[in-house]
Amino acid sequence: MNERVREKLERLPRAPGVYVMRAAGGSTLYVGKASDLRSRVRSYFTPGTADARFFVSRLAADLDDLETIVTADEREALLLENSLIKQLRPRYNVRLRDDKDYLSIRLDERPPWPRLELVRRPQPDGARYFGPFANARAAREAVRVVQRLFRLRPCRDSVFRGRSRPCLLHQLGRCDGPCVLPVDPAAYRTAVRRAAALLEGRRDSVLAELRDEMKSAAAALDFERAARLRDQLAAVDRAAWGEPQRVVEVSDVDRDVVGLHRDGPVALAVVLEVRAGRLVAVRDYPLADLDLPDPELLAGLLAQRYAAAATPPDEILLPFPAPASDVLEAFLSARRGRRVRVLVPRRGRGRRLLALARDNAEQRFLLDARDRQSAAAQVEALGRALHLRRPPRTIECVDVSHWGGEAGTTVAAIAAMLDGRLDKSRYRRFRLRGDHRGDDYAAMREVLLRRFERARSGDPRWTAPDLLVVDGGRGQLAVARAVLADLGIPDVALAAIAKPHDPPDDRPAPSETTAPSSPEAAAVLDAVYLAGRKNPLRLRPGSPALRLLARLRDETHRLAVSFQGSARRKHRLTDRLADIPGIGPATRRRLLRAFGSVARLARASADEIAAVEGVTAAQARAVARELARGPGPDEPPP
Ligand code: SF4
Repeated sequence: MNERVREKLERLPRAPGVYVMRAAGGSTLYVGKASDLRSRVRSYFTPGTADARFFVSRLAADLDDLETIVTADEREALLLENSLIKQLRPRYNVRLRDDKDYLSIRLDERPPWPRLELVRRPQPDGARYFGPFANARAAREAVRVVQRLFRLRPCRDSVFRGRSRPCLLHQLGRCDGPCVLPVDPAAYRTAVRRAAALLEGRRDSVLAELRDEMKSAAAALDFERAARLRDQLAAVDRAAWGEPQRVVEVSDVDRDVVGLHRDGPVALAVVLEVRAGRLVAVRDYPLADLDLPDPELLAGLLAQRYAAAATPPDEILLPFPAPASDVLEAFLSARRGRRVRVLVPRRGRGRRLLALARDNAEQRFLLDARDRQSAAAQVEALGRALHLRRPPRTIECVDVSHWGGEAGTTVAAIAAMLDGRLDKSRYRRFRLRGDHRGDDYAAMREVLLRRFERARSGDPRWTAPDLLVVDGGRGQLAVARAVLADLGIPDVALAAIAKPHDPPDDRPAPSETTAPSSPEAAAVLDAVYLAGRKNPLRLRPGSPALRLLARLRDETHRLAVSFQGSARRKHRLTDRLADIPGIGPATRRRLLRAFGSVARLARASADEIAAVEGVTAAQARAVARELARGPGPDEPPP
């Protein structure tokens, strides 16, 4: 398990919600819901967990990142979980779960004789929906009990319309037979209203109403009716099918709901993306060094969010009015090509969604604040541990990756941190040009020369970091030192972090202050080499400084490996193109000029390839056939 996941596990909220587990590269492993996110998610990693599902034992190794979304209650979590499973197609959920929706109860009150029915997919059709029920049996039981209690007709519309006399249910006393008998429509409507109230969980108000009516009937000496109401009262009191159901909003209106939590100059905004009445995603926007009032802050956030990639939905719900909201609406409508409304709901479902957005903003802000505090403490600790003059605000780590020892198959990656947190805007990847053939030092030299020549040229996107960490030992450190000296770049502190499996003779005994407390701890110690110091440091396992370094090194390694994978795929395709009989260098150049890359060429059809000037139909078929074969067997591991 990597450092990021370990830290997130320590800070999970005690609240209902949904968790999303991701593998390296961003693919989704599993989506689940919980009434208490903290205890549920941590239970996966508790030794001796009773959860025997096959993937649980592999999670610690496969899991690369974890996201949680707080919801108002467990039912909201159920809906969100269901939406996210469909949207993200998690590897383990797909195999384990039925892909159907949960059951809901539909009640359309517009026809003269409404009935209850069970449905799997609520529609924006004007009917009311109750649920969803996680348990299908509970849903069926709820319909059965409520139908009987209020004598609502259970028959389908087609049966209802075709009757010439009441069915057996009338004789059994379960239905008044509105299909043909003169039933009082007002009384039936009252029964429907009470049925809906009971399904919503407003049992007390239904009981109070029935009690009042029973007393009135008794006072009017209508004892038969009073007795019937007494029985109904007792039955409502006994009725049970699980938790009360909330009314589901089914709508074809798409909404973004904005929540904000702020503490002085630091804030965090979230946007809940509600599509067709369902919460499908939560995006967060940490904001720092703020000098703006909240309304202007939100207006700026919206302008930036929708000016970039996101398409505005039908409605945007804000917790307070934005300045010049008519201008904002006009901008968003123009961006979308249809009207977009910016609203500040005061009641109803909109208000509840705003409360949910606010809760998520607060939750994420607190996590973020703890993260910032812990990151700042780790940076301080690292500065002290490495004997630096000041804590390193910017850190970069370099990793080189080879495979197969062939020329042109070496790549390198640089991951970066700002104030102890990963800073993706400074990530860099390099396809190395030299023929290094597994020569780590030469590869390291090339990547560092290319990276720091840009720093020396004054390019602001390539400013030198406070601390440069190289993945390796004394040799890599010496290369880095020489490159910086050659380029005349001062003020960059240097460290090399050697993996635990590096040769033991390269690793002296730990000092007393950092001595491992057990043989297992000794086995996983990393050695950190510093320029000008003969012996490496041994940072205590779990110490803030080592956690920071380990996280950055893990991230750099992940970046290098994923880049290596894409470079390898491209390399294989390029090789394959070069090997196709009848496709010479001139044709290859023509094809690559027309399609831009060999990957795009591989996705083209034979007809599209044949459309390139100078390429014959036979050549096009050969290229399409050869490149469409899919990737070849994996190259030997590096
Ligand atoms: S009596 Fe009529 S309305 Fe009642 S269930 Fe039978 S067919 Fe339907």
